[in-house]
Amino acid sequence: MSATRPTPRASSALSASSIRQQFSTDINIQISAFGIGFLRKVGQLLACHGDVPDIGLHEGGYLYLATQAGEATLRENHALQRQHGADVVLLSPQQLVARFPWLALQDVVLGSLGLSGEGWFDGYLLLTALRKKAQSQGVRYVADEAVGLDTAASDGVLHVNAVRLQSGTVLPCRYAVNAGGPWAEAIAGWAGIDLPVVGKRRTVFNLASPAALPGCPLLIDTSGIWLRPEGQGFICGFAPDADNDADFAPLEPEYDAFDSYIWPTLAERIPGFEALRLQGAWAGYYEMNTFDHNAIVGLHPACDNLVFANGFSGHGLQQCPAGWVGAWLSCCSRAATKAWTCRHCPLNALRATRRCSKRT
Ligand SMILES: Cc1cc2nc3c(=O)[nH]c(=O)nc-3n(C[C@H](O)[C@H](O)[C@H](O)COP(=O)(O)OP(=O)(O)OC[C@H]3O[C@@H](n4cnc5c(N)ncnc54)[C@H](O)[C@@H]3O)c2cc1C
Repeated sequence: MSATRPTPRASSALSASSIRQQFSTDINIQISAFGIGFLRKVGQLLACHGDVPDIGLHEGGYLYLATQAGEATLRENHALQRQHGADVVLLSPQQLVARFPWLALQDVVLGSLGLSGEGWFDGYLLLTALRKKAQSQGVRYVADEAVGLDTAASDGVLHVNAVRLQSGTVLPCRYAVNAGGPWAEAIAGWAGIDLPVVGKRRTVFNLASPAALPGCPLLIDTSGIWLRPEGQGFICGFAPDADNDADFAPLEPEYDAFDSYIWPTLAERIPGFEALRLQGAWAGYYEMNTFDHNAIVGLHPACDNLVFANGFSGHGLQQCPAGWVGAWLSCCSRAATKAWTCRHCPLNALRATRRCSKRT
């Protein structure tokens, strides 16, 4: 059973819903390989009473561009991704221009393109399909706010007996799962656990452009700005400097940044974008793990039945299939967990205890 707050701010409803294989660590590459496998089979896995969901998965690829300063890192990451079987290629500026003649590449020395396994989908439809499937299997959703945990201690280890709700209801539980997104730190705090997760505002801008960009992938510019097709137009976003990235900034879109930075930078990279029009924007929170920007999945030694599925740091939609599995495994016996993780996905690397053992 899970309690949800009736709020429109949940990150899952505000996401850009994209998936990539181009990560720089083994664990994230493996998680994404698992994620794309799940997304490709969503129709089959989440079919419900004859209703086969279609989340519009489009494997349009990610294209990372690098200047000379970033070339070595791009090559290093590429080698690791290939080791894990990712379908990615490195492209010279000449090869890039041949594929994407609408790009201006004067400062670019290398590109890395995902040929399959990367792209975007309708995140809201995925959320709806998951919810319907869960309900069809007996899950009950409660529109309420969790306000505390009833716990008991034994040998210095807490056990959650129940979750207390704003309405006064008390929900007894065998396991409690902290799936609080950007607000997960407060929930962990009820068990005396310090979870390094905060909300970081990220804006998505919705663009219309008279310039067509045939074959446009999800472009990660050398500036860090990203852009991808959406419907008849495009969406794009950026990561603010650390100095302008307060925790839980109000969810107002950063229009000033669009005018002063994003538009001029994009128009330099894509000359056809000089005539683009901003159609709208929205903002949501990345649930950022300030320790190492990776998900935190599993149990913590301080509490034997509070399961974490937190801190996905802007990758949560693509990582959620592996995240659920990790959270579920935490509730299984140790032997089952070990057998499964060895065969499928080394989720131990994401365990909630890694800060104690200094592993990243
Ligand atoms: C602008 C933006 C773009 C993104 N783009 C991508 C992308 O392209 N690809 C990708 O993979 N990921 C992306 N992400 C990240 C992804 O959306 C998140 O990682 C993911 O949705 C997190 O899911 P979650 O279930 O952990 O959190 P949420 O979806 O935020 O859900 C948490 C839920 O917990 C509820 N809650 C919290 N506290 C309580 C309480 N005390 N009681 C009851 N309920 C509570 C909240 O109301 C909320 O409904 C993006 C995120 C944003 C904001």
